[in-house]
Amino acid sequence: MYRAPRGTTDILPQDQRYWRYVERRAVAVCQRFGYQRIDTPLFEAAGLFVRSVGEDTDIVEKETYTFQDRGGDELTLRPEGTAPVCRAYLEQGMHNLPQPVRLYYFCPIFRYERPQAGRYRQHHQFGIEAIGDGDPLIDVEVIQIGWTLLQELELQSMSLVVNSIGDPECRPGYHQRLREYYRGHLDHLCDDCRRRFDRNPLRLLDCKKESCQPYIAEAPRSADHLCAPCREHWDAVTGQLDNLEIPYRVDHRLVRGLDYYSRTVFEIQPPEEGSQSTILGGGRYDGLIQELGGRPTPGVGFGSGMERIIVNLKKQQVKVPPEMPRPVVVVALGDAARIFGVKLAASLRSGGLSILVAPGNRSLKSQLRYASSMDARYALIVGDEELQRGVVGVRDMDRGEQRQLAEADLPTVLQDS
Ligand SMILES: [Zn+2]
Ligand SMILES: [Zn+2]
Repeated sequence: MYRAPRGTTDILPQDQRYWRYVERRAVAVCQRFGYQRIDTPLFEAAGLFVRSVGEDTDIVEKETYTFQDRGGDELTLRPEGTAPVCRAYLEQGMHNLPQPVRLYYFCPIFRYERPQAGRYRQHHQFGIEAIGDGDPLIDVEVIQIGWTLLQELELQSMSLVVNSIGDPECRPGYHQRLREYYRGHLDHLCDDCRRRFDRNPLRLLDCKKESCQPYIAEAPRSADHLCAPCREHWDAVTGQLDNLEIPYRVDHRLVRGLDYYSRTVFEIQPPEEGSQSTILGGGRYDGLIQELGGRPTPGVGFGSGMERIIVNLKKQQVKVPPEMPRPVVVVALGDAARIFGVKLAASLRSGGLSILVAPGNRSLKSQLRYASSMDARYALIVGDEELQRGVVGVRDMDRGEQRQLAEADLPTVLQDS
C-alpha cells in the first residue's frame, strides 16, 4: 500500500468548506483593498531562493527540495511565496505599472521540515505583496489586510506583534552591539546560536531553545538603535496603527527567519501560544528586488499558513458554511420511473440544483435511506402512479412531510429550500 509522503496530507471533501471559506473571505478582503491575484510556477531556478531567502538561513541550508531536471537545470520547489512574486515583477516589467503593484496569491509551499505535529512538508499559503512604494502607510495597509482578514474569519483573541529591524544603514551598528552583548554569554548558548553569532546575529533573538531565552530577554533592542529615517518610518507605522485602532504589541525578539526583511516586521499569533504557531507573518523587504537584479524597489507583504488558520477555526469552533447546498435525491420505483427520473434530474440540474439519483433498482425504503445518508433536503419520488398522473412526490426529509407537485412547480419549490 502506498501512503502520502511524510509531511503531506490529503484535503478530504469534508474539510473543503474550511478551505473555500478562508479563500472566499481572503479574496473579498484583497479586492476591497485593490489587490489582484497572481500565480507563479511551483518551481523556480534554485539560485532565486539562495539569493533572496539567504544562504545562511535554515530554509536554504536544510529545508529546500532542490533537484536537477533532465536538462541539468537546478530547480527548487517554492519554499516561500515572496521571491517568486518579485521575480515575476521584474521579469514581466511590472515596474512600468502604477506603483505600488498590489498582488495576492494562494500557493503550496515545500519545505523539508522535521516531522512533528502541525509541520508539513507541503503546506499552503495565502499571501500578499505590495511592491514599489516605501511609504509607511503601505506597511500599515498590509498589516491592516492581515488583521481584517482574521477578524472577518471570526477568529478571536489574535495578537499582532510588530518590530523594526532597521535597514543596511543602521543594522551593522546594531549587529555589533548584539555581538558585544552576546560575546560574554557564548558559553551558555546553544550550538545553533553560536553559529548564528558570526553569521547572522539578528537570528540569535529568534532562538526557540529554553536555555537561550534569558539572554534574549536582556539583549539590546533593534528599535532602540534605528537611524533617523528608520526611526521616522517606525514612528509613522505605529502612529498609523494607533490611528486605525489596530491593537499591537512591540516585541524586540521578532526578527523573522528570512534575510531579506528590513524595517517593519510583524506577526499575528493565536491566543496562548508562541511564535511557533504564528498564523500570519511578514514585513518590509526593500533590498530584495535589487538583490534579484532589479533597480532599488521597496516592497512589503505577508504570508499566512492556510493549515494554521484552519486549525484555529476548528479550535475556536467557528461556524463555517457548507461548501455546497444539500442535494435533492431522485427516488425512482420501476424501469419506466427510472427513465423519467434520469431526465428529471438532468432538467433540474440545468436549473442549478444539486441532484443525485438513488442507485440501483431498490425498494422505496432503501432508496429513502440512501437519501438521508446523503443528507438530502428533499427526495423526489416517482413510481407508476406518479407517472400516470403527471406528478412527482416531494418528501421534505427534515420534516418527514410529503406532498405531490406538478413537474413544472418543482424548480421554484426546491430552490426555496
Ligand atoms: Zn539558542
Ligand atoms: Zn536605518
